[in-house]
Amino acid sequence: MERVHYDVGDIVRMKKKHPCGSDEWRLTRVGMDFGMRCQGCDHFVMIPRVKFEKMCRAIVKKAEESASGEASQDRNTGKN
Ligand SMILES: [Zn+2]
Repeated sequence: MERVHYDVGDIVRMKKKHPCGSDEWRLTRVGMDFGMRCQGCDHFVMIPRVKFEKMCRAIVKKAEESASGEASQDRNTGKN
C-alpha cells in the first residue's frame, strides 16, 4: 500500500465539501493529528491522521512548489 507524504503548507482536496462550498484545505500541522485551514472561509480543524487519509482525495499543490529553489540548501543532510 502506497503511503502519501504530506507537508505543512500543502493544499489538499477533500472528498466532502465544507458548508462554505470549498473543498480545498491548507495543511498547517502534520503528525499524529493533522491541522488544516479551509481555503474558502478560513475555518480551522484538527483531525487524526487516519481520518484525514480517508477523507483526502488528492494533493492539489505541494508546499515546496511555491518556494522553489530554497529547498536545495539542505538536500545533502537528509532527515534528522
Ligand atoms: Zn469553509
